[in-house]
Amino acid sequence: MPTRRLYYDDAFQKEFTARVMHCEILPPDVNSGITANVWGLLLDRTAFYPTSGGQPNDLGKIGDANVLDVRDEGDEILHLVDRKPSDPDVFCCIHWPRRFDHMQQHTGQHLLSAMFQERFGLPTVSFHLGSELSTIDLRGPEPAEEILEGAERAANQIIFEDRPVNVRYGTADQLSELGVRKEVEREGLLRAIEIESADLQPCGGTHVKRTGQIGLVLVRRCTKVRQDWRVEFVCGGRAERIARHDFLLTRRVADLLSCAPDDLESAASKAIVERDAHFKNARAHLQRLAEAESLLALQATTPDSRGLRIFSCVFRGMSSEYIGFFATEPAKTEKTIALLASEDGSLLFAQNPSAGSDMAQLIKQAFEKFGGKGGGTRDFARGKLADPSQTNAAVAFALERLSAHGN
Ligand SMILES: [Zn+2]
Repeated sequence: MPTRRLYYDDAFQKEFTARVMHCEILPPDVNSGITANVWGLLLDRTAFYPTSGGQPNDLGKIGDANVLDVRDEGDEILHLVDRKPSDPDVFCCIHWPRRFDHMQQHTGQHLLSAMFQERFGLPTVSFHLGSELSTIDLRGPEPAEEILEGAERAANQIIFEDRPVNVRYGTADQLSELGVRKEVEREGLLRAIEIESADLQPCGGTHVKRTGQIGLVLVRRCTKVRQDWRVEFVCGGRAERIARHDFLLTRRVADLLSCAPDDLESAASKAIVERDAHFKNARAHLQRLAEAESLLALQATTPDSRGLRIFSCVFRGMSSEYIGFFATEPAKTEKTIALLASEDGSLLFAQNPSAGSDMAQLIKQAFEKFGGKGGGTRDFARGKLADPSQTNAAVAFALERLSAHGN
């Protein structure tokens, strides 16, 4: 027996009584986030909206049972609940804030889509009502900022005019005579939603009574998704919350930058320019420091019996950039080798060509023994150990090999 859909004629019915026609236990459905056994209920009539047409299902209570999901099964509507109602005659109530939110978003979508179509020739090819944001996909050329703003403004104008939103019934032919653009494949009597003098759409969803109840439409981002343009928007209570959130965010960032909200853009640009200049400056200082420390270290290193100066060091708390700068000086100094590392396991082996060793070979041997990746040339090689705790051992190993081989 088909379920009577009370929401078709009165989308504002929040409570109703019904009779349980069928009740069976269903296995968990992990895909729907249902991890325990649930009960599937068919009622003789229902005001619960099932997931369909882009609008998510309602939640609420059927007797003492909590509604977990509502599904459209052709003629019947299946309610998934967490327990079997104790009585076959049930008092039901819909979680109204959720439903009203869905009605604001859905009616707002009809209106916004109509404005994109009518004013800018951009048809809506799909609609999704999400838990935070809703989206429509527009087909056609990329909508410029003025088009997004123009559609938003036109939709809000119709909201301010508080026009009636009517439910109409008719055959596909009758509806197309009335101006329905969309091709409808279903047979028989169809339901359509009319926003007076603005839009007529075949739709089984729940809608507000007048455009004023949409409150406000705010268009957000527009991004390309495959061949279409996905426009994010919010209506009603969501628009209120997001506007408040944006304001607080703006104010907090303005406080951080010690400026008025209107000066945020110039203050942020200035901060970025300063940051870049400081970065450049700090890098130059780092280079000078590394070079100076490198010179001191070289002066303190005594040449061995072959006349080779071999300097080794594991740096603590210095970046790999510092080590790179540090290596420049030994590489310029006759018969000098530097085995440098930082405590994160980065290795840098550099030599002056006159030292006559092979840094690429040496670092390869170190990685073979301790594990890690890297490489380079005869005079300059770098890489990183897989295990930073091996850094000291790896440097000691390289030093050992240089002394042992005498080259
Ligand atoms: Zn709709």
